[in-house]
Amino acid sequence: MSFTQLGLSDDIVRAVSEQGYTIPTPIQTQAIPAVLAGGDLLAGAQTGTGKTAGFTLPILQRLAAKSINPAAARRPIRALILTPTRELAAQVEESVRVYGKYLKLNSAVIFGGVGINPQITLLKRGVDILVATPGRLLDHMQQGTVDLSQIEILVLDEADRMLDMGFIRDIKKVLAALPKQRQNLLFSATFSDEIKALADGLLNAPAMIEVARRNSTVEVIAQKVHPVDRNRKHPLLSHLIKTQQWSQVLVFTRTKHGANKLVEQLGKESISALAIHGNKSQAARTRALSEFKDGSLQVLVATDIAARGIDIDQLPHVVNYDLPNVPEDYVHRIGRTGRAGATGEAVSLVCVDEHGLLKDIEKLIKRTLPQEVVAGFEPDPNATPQPIQLRSGNGGGGRRPQQQKAPANSSRNGHGGAKPAGPSKTGASNRPGGKTAPPHRSGGRGR
Ligand code: AMP
Repeated sequence: MSFTQLGLSDDIVRAVSEQGYTIPTPIQTQAIPAVLAGGDLLAGAQTGTGKTAGFTLPILQRLAAKSINPAAARRPIRALILTPTRELAAQVEESVRVYGKYLKLNSAVIFGGVGINPQITLLKRGVDILVATPGRLLDHMQQGTVDLSQIEILVLDEADRMLDMGFIRDIKKVLAALPKQRQNLLFSATFSDEIKALADGLLNAPAMIEVARRNSTVEVIAQKVHPVDRNRKHPLLSHLIKTQQWSQVLVFTRTKHGANKLVEQLGKESISALAIHGNKSQAARTRALSEFKDGSLQVLVATDIAARGIDIDQLPHVVNYDLPNVPEDYVHRIGRTGRAGATGEAVSLVCVDEHGLLKDIEKLIKRTLPQEVVAGFEPDPNATPQPIQLRSGNGGGGRRPQQQKAPANSSRNGHGGAKPAGPSKTGASNRPGGKTAPPHRSGGRGR
């Protein structure tokens, strides 16, 4: 199967080939014809599956095929893509630009944390495809600086994450401002009852596709656990980076304070590192991400805010410096490596305090992770567990009060338990049923 066979125009196929893609991924094979056909779509797909091109390519094609009224005073916004985080919004819009480079369509991205005036100027000039986070879009709506009355296609990308981050009310306000007649595409990695309710209210006889097993970890990722004492994690990480010559490694910490501290410690050892989390300015986050992407920064330390937004081709190493206290975040975190068929390695540094969290993760992914003690970093067999500090300071930046965190050793199975409400399949998938994703922390901001 080629991109041409999916019904995409030469201009789009050319741009896609220039990215080095020759074969559509499974989500693309299914989503592209479905979106080109003009109907609604409910898609179960995680990041790393190629879902962005799965909706971007057919949207570009549909918009390019139908020219707008040249007499219109300004080109109206015809497609709106909502994403949960600023980083993801920026990446999606970059994809729109890259894939649409041979078309006469333009795009813009709007999100919070940066000045609103340049965005107003952009919107005034006329935009065909707008990528936005819900909070900032609402700001523009309230100021009357965005006109959504001509939207033909709406995409809710990572809808589960948007709901976890408390954006449902914002999304509803946006939906109310859209024309009734439009095409709706909803992408979500998990299917809670909340997502099901949103999909029921939004989608009209949608095509339903699903490509990745829910809560499964991508097979090409080699995963292992290094047991280590709590206060030896940092020396162990430095040791691994140096001895294994890791040139680009994404490290997850549980707290913003932990991220900052680790950056400082690595810096003292001449390992270049920057942190990316909710307390960093947008400029600092963008800078860290771009230096990491271009290879000038060796280590990017992130809290879970970044887990969904970061898209770096073939990221070879992800390290869980702390295990996440929500097991599903483990899957999201390690999904940053081994993307779109590349192989990757995910390493977790686990101390005695985290044995309960590790058990919860292994239960979720239905496999026991191999453990490997690194010589010189053997954990003290008599160490006793201490309570885990779940957050540093106030606020992950979300827009609603944060969910109660599970105690370190508790099982999270008490959450939800609702029957899965995911889409039925037309494609290859074997999603095990039964577990609804528990609430995620709201780390990123849509504003
Ligand atoms: P996404 O799931 O949209 O975040 O995409 C994950 C990664 O896969 C991105 O880095 C894309 O550039 C890459 N990608 C998307 N489609 C393809 C394809 N057909 N072949 C190879 N890589 C792809």
